[in-house]
Amino acid sequence: MTPPTVAVTTQFTPEVHVPALVLGAGACGLSAALHLQARGVEALVLERDARPAGSTSLSSGFIPAAGTLAQQAMGEDDHAEQFAQDIQAKAHGQAAAHLVQAYTQAIAPALDFLQQTHGFAWQVLDGFLYPGHSRKRMHTLPERRGEALVQRLDNCVRQCEVSVLTEARAHQLVVDAQQRVLGVRVQRPDGSHESIGCGTLLLACNGYGASVDWLQRFVPNMVGATYAGHVGNDGTAVTWAEALGVPLRDMGAYQGHGSWAVPHGSLVTWALMMDGGVQINRLGQRFHNESLGYSEAAVQVLAQPDGLAWCVFDADILQTARGFPDFVDAEAAGAVLHAAGVDELAQRMGCPAPVLAQTLAAVQPGTADPWGRTFARPLRAPYAAVKVTGALFHTQGGLDVDAHCRVRGADGQPLPNLWAAGGAARGVSGPDVSGYLSGNGLLSALAGGYLAAHAMADQLEEPHDA
Ligand SMILES: Cc1cc2nc3c(=O)[nH]c(=O)nc-3n(C[C@H](O)[C@H](O)[C@H](O)COP(=O)(O)OP(=O)(O)OC[C@H]3O[C@@H](n4cnc5c(N)ncnc54)[C@H](O)[C@@H]3O)c2cc1C
Repeated sequence: MTPPTVAVTTQFTPEVHVPALVLGAGACGLSAALHLQARGVEALVLERDARPAGSTSLSSGFIPAAGTLAQQAMGEDDHAEQFAQDIQAKAHGQAAAHLVQAYTQAIAPALDFLQQTHGFAWQVLDGFLYPGHSRKRMHTLPERRGEALVQRLDNCVRQCEVSVLTEARAHQLVVDAQQRVLGVRVQRPDGSHESIGCGTLLLACNGYGASVDWLQRFVPNMVGATYAGHVGNDGTAVTWAEALGVPLRDMGAYQGHGSWAVPHGSLVTWALMMDGGVQINRLGQRFHNESLGYSEAAVQVLAQPDGLAWCVFDADILQTARGFPDFVDAEAAGAVLHAAGVDELAQRMGCPAPVLAQTLAAVQPGTADPWGRTFARPLRAPYAAVKVTGALFHTQGGLDVDAHCRVRGADGQPLPNLWAAGGAARGVSGPDVSGYLSGNGLLSALAGGYLAAHAMADQLEEPHDA
């Protein structure tokens, strides 16, 4: 595979030229294409795979947003400022403030546009709050799967006759001496190359979770961990950025997940923990405050003997969990074990029964929890458990961008015609794993896609760029 490079030249004679080129057909790229189309801009989406998928299709498809029509319909009082506070609280005040503000304001119009113009039937998850969210604001399509989100976006893009060129991996970014993007060179599966020129370019090709080289530099503790994201997150955008001298920000940040079923290899919803479940290692002990978040839990689980833990819960929580397709898949694959009481549970988990009994007995309202968690109720037999490890889902660092997702150069000024959004740009999770608030990934993808598309359209409408 040809590695990503940047060519600086004035000699570029592409076969095709489009006003707006979008690189990557995940949630960011496809939604941006729909906004561009609504603004009357001709856009072309390039995708390396045979069909749009990306990490978006592997995700649960839950998108946090404040002040949407869907929230209003369920009577949930929420607003962008509250959402911004929640993001910063999770990121210990270290998330990029201009992006937090821009994304929390843009995500409601972005989702409302998809509802009103393209018929997306958003539902807001009810019944429990994801860690760090002070309001019910997790939006999802009825299928509750990222795959459905991509399929829906892809169908809409095709209905609107926006061109999507698949099996087209962009390997070379072509710029002039002033860092104006002229276009990209694309490699096809048969090894042939094509050149595509553009007036504006959006990098929507996600981060570097699939690149061992980039992980070794910035996220070394997850190099050996399970990677649950898409293989296309190979660091194309950050490689180009480095060649251009564009600053990279928050490169140590990522979405981990402390509940990846083994050996089945599927996500087990963190709703189990938020509903009262606990994580227990093979010594029969709890080891962290599960209510802080699933991202940092990945590190906690990997630090346990064999890098493994058990998510332990009871029959009430099992009912909640069965409302999540990822859990249904895990259960169908045989990942969930059942036990009538503590002794059977200990035997099936392979841990000492007296220790496990003591651990479960301490799960009580009003007890002083060593990790600072508060329990609303005890866990009651019969029990259920899933063996899990910690996994890397996607990286949250990326290109430095302004509040319109324009890529900024080393002097802090925007480059002439380059945008980055979604996983390609720096996120809103601060500098490390502990700052990831549930849904920051798709928030960045859909809000960033919205902001970038409108800014690209604005620029293309200016007389000198038209
Ligand atoms: C198991 C799992 C569950 C998750 N659940 C959630 C969730 O519920 N909520 C949430 O907010 N986030 C979740 N995430 C994170 C979320 O999936 C990502 O943050 C989000 O999908 C990023 O969207 P994107 O459009 O930026 O990237 P992607 O969806 O990865 O799309 C990028 C596209 O670019 C293409 N591409 C890459 N390089 C090139 C190139 N050189 N040329 C052409 N095409 C290229 C790729 O093939 C890919 O299709 C989850 C992630 C995982 C792995």
